[in-house]
Amino acid sequence: MNNHSNFELWFVAGSQHLYGPEALSTVAANSQDVAEALDRSASIPTKVVFKAVGETPESIRAICLEANNALNCVGLIIWCHTFSPAKMWIGGLGALNKPFVHLHTQYHRDLPWGEIDMDYMNLHQAAHGDREFGFICSRMRLERKVVVGHWQDSEVHDRIGAWSRAGIGWRAAQGAKICRIGDNMREVSVTEGDKVAAEVRFGYSVNGYGVGDVVAFVNEQSDVDVDALCVTYSDEYDVVPSLSKGGDSHESLRDGARIELGMRAFLNDKGASGFTTTFEDLHGLKQLPGLSVQRLMKDGYGFAAEGDWKTAALVYIMKSMAEGLDGGTSFMEDYTYHLQPENNLVLGSHMLEICPSIAAKKPSLEIHPLGIGGKEDPVRLVFDTPPGPAVNATIVDLGNRFRMVVNEVDVVEPEAPLPKLPVARAVWKPKPDFKTSAASWIYAGGSHHPVFSQALNSEVLQDFAAIAGIELVSIDRSTNVNELRKELRFNDAYYHMNRGFSFAG
Ligand code: MN
Repeated sequence: MNNHSNFELWFVAGSQHLYGPEALSTVAANSQDVAEALDRSASIPTKVVFKAVGETPESIRAICLEANNALNCVGLIIWCHTFSPAKMWIGGLGALNKPFVHLHTQYHRDLPWGEIDMDYMNLHQAAHGDREFGFICSRMRLERKVVVGHWQDSEVHDRIGAWSRAGIGWRAAQGAKICRIGDNMREVSVTEGDKVAAEVRFGYSVNGYGVGDVVAFVNEQSDVDVDALCVTYSDEYDVVPSLSKGGDSHESLRDGARIELGMRAFLNDKGASGFTTTFEDLHGLKQLPGLSVQRLMKDGYGFAAEGDWKTAALVYIMKSMAEGLDGGTSFMEDYTYHLQPENNLVLGSHMLEICPSIAAKKPSLEIHPLGIGGKEDPVRLVFDTPPGPAVNATIVDLGNRFRMVVNEVDVVEPEAPLPKLPVARAVWKPKPDFKTSAASWIYAGGSHHPVFSQALNSEVLQDFAAIAGIELVSIDRSTNVNELRKELRFNDAYYHMNRGFSFAG
């Protein structure tokens, strides 16, 4: 849904007039080289464009205001090649509403031991220029990512690349529309929250629609289009015989195709980036949307079930961040456990709606009864998820703020085939271990509806939380439950003092 090649990071160097035109032209040329190297890096999915050397308060502010208004600019990379007295940056940084990374690098990697003189030292002084810049950022309490290292180092590219993906997610969130079709699953708590606070904080809007609004689009779909989509299904999936043309349940597949066409038309009509459904409100739909939701997610739409709009938005944001990377991203649910000592595993799945971007191989298109919702049997794609590293992430509304919880996990092969399980699934081993992970997640109030990604790592999500200005609780190889419980208490105090009675989450 996004085209990352259109996005730009603006490279801005810091300096000052005192150096004179000759030195400043070297600063500009060096900055151009650094920007071009980052632009060529395979780790950074956006363009990197050298914009300017900031030399005065006026020019710095002008660049920042221009960045604010540039739709394709997802953020700034700022490097103080030389000393740049940082009061000059107050006006610009105070007005800047784009994320920025502070790249602490130096043009020459190695000291020219035998040649170095005062001219060299005065030209290559990011060592203190960037510290002056860092002070004003900290003094202004500005959120930013500090990346340290030589600009040709691939590790530096990786750090900026992760942040640039977070910036892409942030940009995707601004103005995104999430359609909540039906309301919440009755009595469920974590799927609720303050939609106004979410729009203030994240930039996306959530608005409700009656399921009848979707049904009107479903009923408009032509038989010709429905049959054509059934042919697409048979091309893309292993369709069980009963659903195939001439099979006993082929009409159910056609119903599923009609729902997909209708939902697609509805979402297109609303300009939506994501949506929720609820099995408690399906009036006029023959089945709970399963296959359709799976395919819409594969195409980049955010989705979550049971009215969970925060997770639907996060699926969309994470899919935007992950574009172009290997591995998929899906709505997920912690479903059931394997509690064998020394080999505790989580089986993740949902009633139907797991995105086939995480399928290990060609999915099977099947029909099975669903004992909940009181509708006809729904069609769905069934598959396993390939082994490898993944993350689970969730955002919850704590009433006075949003908290993101991220857990690194390793997907493993199921211990045995699951021939009777009629839904897509993933089996994983959480870090640092199952008990620590689950206790930490539960203490943090993390949702049972994580967004699961084999494309993103926790760094991208940490960077996103920082850009969004929300609390991040990371559960990884170094997590200790007692320390985490203290962190949660400290964070309660910090956010209360930091935001006080702010309405904005
Ligand atoms: Mn659920």
